[in-house]
Amino acid sequence: MMKYKEIGFKLTPQRLAILDYLEGNTAHPSAEEIDRALSEKFPTMSLATVYNTLETLRQKGLVQELSIDPDKKRFDPNIRPHNHLMCIDCRRIIDVHTNFDLSLNDRDKANFIVLGHHVEFYGRCPECRKAAEGRA
Ligand SMILES: [Zn+2]
Ligand SMILES: [Zn+2]
Repeated sequence: MMKYKEIGFKLTPQRLAILDYLEGNTAHPSAEEIDRALSEKFPTMSLATVYNTLETLRQKGLVQELSIDPDKKRFDPNIRPHNHLMCIDCRRIIDVHTNFDLSLNDRDKANFIVLGHHVEFYGRCPECRKAAEGRA
């Protein structure tokens, strides 16, 4: 994901742990999840540290902030353009690599230079569908 040396901020053990946690992580964790996962091993870890580190990484373009989950921001260390599919029950988010040709017509473009797009899909994952059938 990133070369630690090039990040340009002081690597405390807490920050390093957050970077390690994010490296190759495809679960699109929230700050709360990261804090929960790391606070046992790093008792001095705080949600504020997680937030601040994520914000720094986002500003440096090393992590994507996703708004697909209406309840909380989710974070993705994969900064290559891709789309997402979220289960509306368990809020699991998976990557969607289908390429969509979503060119805007001139009217909609309104003289903007369009740099990218992000498509958000919502659905119900197999486990949640199974659980729902079990309840029925
Ligand atoms: Zn689900
Ligand atoms: Zn992703």
